[in-house]
Amino acid sequence: MGSGNSAALSAESYLALTHAQWAAMEAHVSAETPNEACGLIAGHNGEAQHIFLIENELKSPMRYRMAPKQQLDAFMDMEMEGWELLAIYHSHPNGPSGPSQTDLAEAFYSEALQVIWSRTGERWLCRAFLFENKEAAEVEIRIGEDE
Ligand SMILES: [Zn+2]
Repeated sequence: MGSGNSAALSAESYLALTHAQWAAMEAHVSAETPNEACGLIAGHNGEAQHIFLIENELKSPMRYRMAPKQQLDAFMDMEMEGWELLAIYHSHPNGPSGPSQTDLAEAFYSEALQVIWSRTGERWLCRAFLFENKEAAEVEIRIGEDE
């Protein structure tokens, strides 16, 4: 704690979510379909503590851009709570289940994971990736019990 530089994530990294956090994101991406939804996952050491649902101001099925004011408010909350940004999530209502070329090209918080929700029929799949040098490595998501 206290250090401004977070260590680079290694291949052993994981993202731990509670059922409630998983369900909150699923409800969000589902509600925004057919448009992409987006948000932020905050916590410590891979353990999510809060999900920030952020408006996609582009209202597009192909792209997202977080509403700047909501994004700023989320970062201020994280600062106050002492949380780190663990991951950025967004949805692909029409696939793919992994990152698009645009995602890889535009990612700028390289230390945070990229969580992608994709849909097959009514079922949503949630995967996490670490982007490095415009390539994506999949990271395990662990779903734990609610507190
Ligand atoms: Zn995408």
